[in-house]
Amino acid sequence: MSEKKRLWQPTIDETRCTACRICHDFCPKGVYGFTPGGKVVVKNGEQCVDGCHGCEWQCPSWAITFPEPITADYIAKAVDYYGKKGKPVPSTFTTYVKGRYGLEFP
Ligand code: SF4
Ligand code: SF4
Repeated sequence: MSEKKRLWQPTIDETRCTACRICHDFCPKGVYGFTPGGKVVVKNGEQCVDGCHGCEWQCPSWAITFPEPITADYIAKAVDYYGKKGKPVPSTFTTYVKGRYGLEFP
């Protein structure tokens, strides 16, 4: 029997979420949606890109988690990505990973 594939999608901590919609506006895959009352929810979780944490560090309330945390390897890839684009790593990202995970930048 084959091992079931891990389902990679965000989970919103409702006790932290302020319904600011930043995650919805950021995600290019249309993963997030709204309830009629304006609550932000994971609507199309299957469209989430495996290993992506993009919306996690956009969230000002630290309300989004994934099956695995951001790692030093992920940070190295992000640094490489922005370096190739000739852009600085966003301070939103550096502040988030330092604050939430205690990870330093190379
Ligand atoms: S960015 Fe965070 S606080 Fe804002 S709607 Fe998304 S999960 Fe909620
Ligand atoms: S991790 Fe990436 S693809 Fe998945 S919901 Fe967040 S921004 Fe969208």
